[in-house]
Amino acid sequence: MSMSTQTDLVDAEPLGELERLNELKRFRSHGRGFWQEVAETDWNDWRWQLKHRITTGEQLRQLVPVLTPEEHAGAFLNENRLAMAITPYFFTLIDPADPNCPIRRQVIPRIEETHVSAGEMLDPCAEELHSPVPGLVHRYPDRVMLFATDRCASYCRYCTRARLVSHGPQHDFHPQLEQQLDYIQRTKTVRDVLISGGDPLLFSDEKLADLLGRIRSIRHVELIRIGTRVPIFLPQRITNQLCTGLRQYHPLFISIHSNHPSELTIEARHALWQLADAGIPLGNQSVLLRGVNDDPVVLKAHMQKLLMCRVKPYYLYQCDLVSGTGHFRVSVRKGLELMKSLRGYTSGYAVPTYVIDAPGGGGKIPISPEYMLNYTNDSIVLRNYEGKLFEYPEPADNTVLCQAACPHGEYLHW
Ligand code: SF4
Repeated sequence: MSMSTQTDLVDAEPLGELERLNELKRFRSHGRGFWQEVAETDWNDWRWQLKHRITTGEQLRQLVPVLTPEEHAGAFLNENRLAMAITPYFFTLIDPADPNCPIRRQVIPRIEETHVSAGEMLDPCAEELHSPVPGLVHRYPDRVMLFATDRCASYCRYCTRARLVSHGPQHDFHPQLEQQLDYIQRTKTVRDVLISGGDPLLFSDEKLADLLGRIRSIRHVELIRIGTRVPIFLPQRITNQLCTGLRQYHPLFISIHSNHPSELTIEARHALWQLADAGIPLGNQSVLLRGVNDDPVVLKAHMQKLLMCRVKPYYLYQCDLVSGTGHFRVSVRKGLELMKSLRGYTSGYAVPTYVIDAPGGGGKIPISPEYMLNYTNDSIVLRNYEGKLFEYPEPADNTVLCQAACPHGEYLHW
């Protein structure tokens, strides 16, 4: 066996990539942008931010003089299925001079949203089919998802729940809180409740406390989770008072939703640290989006930057088959390549699980590059992140385990 030097073992990252990676990981504040005249106290007030969202094509045209034809047509589309709303804070993250700005792609409507590709659906994950009462999804044995509201701080153009959120002209969704809580109360198998929407952190502190308190009082509920994009769209909402309130309901986990390292600003990091300081474990769910994060350096920078915000990258979702989102979708082949660019090349904590939420309601299915090449009763052949092959002997109790696991008493080979 030849002696390896340190440089044999670890391929040095090309300098250009490393510089790009570090540039993407820099924490910045974009200040107040077009809103310089606004008082600091107003700017830092989450209700001011909500009240002054950009919601019309005309406002957008004034702020982004060079809208592309696709954006212009999308922003002025009257019967747009998903409303537009962008908080002033999040708007400052947009580069108005760059039509390919990854932040811009996520929140500015485009005419492509009216193009429905083959296989796309209004409810691709069949949430309605798995809703025993309106606004509550019970797809997995021991957990439910409760839609608390149909409002978000800003609206993501690829949203899986575009059919429900934003209270657009064709929407008629009204959460039925009493029915939802009653279902959880009488369904003893539910030990985990995810509060989602829409964004539950848009509730006032009092309303949120009431909801959390009612769920926490159900004896068989062990874990409460909140799904939110507020720390990214509206970090001003994460106040000391909110955090003091949230810590009353532990064990409480929060899943945030961030897709690009530029979303992790100084303000967002401060908000996330406040939540972490309140003892709340934080995870992130990203959606793999064309022109946003389908680049190995961007993805790695994002995952590493999340860890610096004390957030564990949790899931990377293949974009759901939502009507009008074909322009966002990246092939699964490319998604697997991107995952390969992470595993082994950065901390395991920085590697999310790549999943497809199966069309038709099959739930989240993890997919990963082929690391296990062959599996027999005697051994497993593995490939590491560098493409080198290794064999691991199968422990002797394999036969018994296989027979016990298989209803027909047969061995499992693949
Ligand atoms: S924050 Fe979540 S629910 Fe709201 S629009 Fe974005 S993806 Fe949809």
